[in-house]
Amino acid sequence: MEFKDYYQVLGVSRDADEKQIKSAYRKLARKYHPDSNPDDPNAEEQFKELSEAYEVLKDPDKRAKYDRFGKDWERYQHAEDAGYSAEPQDFASWFSGTPGGGRVHYEYRSTGDTGFSDFFETLFGDSFGGRTTTRERVRQQPQRGQDFEYPVEIPLRDAYHGTTRRFDVQIQERCPSCGGSGMNGRGFCPQCSGSGTVPKSKTIEVQIPAGVRTGSRVRVSGQGSPGVNGGPSGDIYLKITVKPDPRFELDGNNLRTEMTVPLYTAILGGEVVVPTVDGSVALTIPSETQNGRVFRLRGKGMPPLSGGERGDLLARVKVQLPSNLTDEERELFQKLAALREGH
Ligand SMILES: [Zn+2]
Repeated sequence: MEFKDYYQVLGVSRDADEKQIKSAYRKLARKYHPDSNPDDPNAEEQFKELSEAYEVLKDPDKRAKYDRFGKDWERYQHAEDAGYSAEPQDFASWFSGTPGGGRVHYEYRSTGDTGFSDFFETLFGDSFGGRTTTRERVRQQPQRGQDFEYPVEIPLRDAYHGTTRRFDVQIQERCPSCGGSGMNGRGFCPQCSGSGTVPKSKTIEVQIPAGVRTGSRVRVSGQGSPGVNGGPSGDIYLKITVKPDPRFELDGNNLRTEMTVPLYTAILGGEVVVPTVDGSVALTIPSETQNGRVFRLRGKGMPPLSGGERGDLLARVKVQLPSNLTDEERELFQKLAALREGH
């Protein structure tokens, strides 16, 4: 998009009065009117440019705005774009001037409804009293607010039981000073610097369901940025990471752990203590339990995230050999060893 010098288009000086502008326009409009130049495709472009220049310079308000912002149109455009989150296809139709887009009139209407330049629309697109430009149409369309994603780390215990967390989140809210337009009567809105939105922090309380895993996304519906023109609010997503636990390893819905079994219990059988996420439980093991044997504790694994059954706890035996033997113990082990050999 380029800056258009409307004074140059009409061939008048910057301090030309209304009369001079009108007469310059009439003279050139007759020359370039499409009806008088049916075989010259450039004439229509010239005529369009003339109409656009006249549309601005004949109107004291628009002329004042053009004089103020014309050279700074890039800055102005930036502020405008920051304020409107239209879909790309909306921008495409806006810039290409699709027929049916409800464009502005020409002073002399030519065939088709092709609209004025992007530069013109940028400066004046949303300040046409009573007329609906494409830009306004875009603005009036309901738009969904922005989504936000926050990373959250939780211990395994919270993933196992589910938990409630409070978060301070920052969202963009419509600027209360300018109502989201980014402009006030004199120029850029000072509160939002022309962006139309202001940051706001708020605290949200979120239920994290039991069974979440690393990579789970918990949706907090409607807590994102507010929608525009009646559009729904965006959502907040919590992206879960379950912290590694020193005692438990996740294996699908199952949890794996190790249980320490004293040598004598492994040989003779008896009660051992198994850690679970919920706390320790007692388990009776048979005599001659081998090192490395895995016991399955049904339903002591992770809750299913979506349907299916709760997992199990798989507890692996780690036999603990006695150390610092007394002389008597050593003698007895020697006797046991001799018995084994004589078998
Ligand atoms: Zn504002």
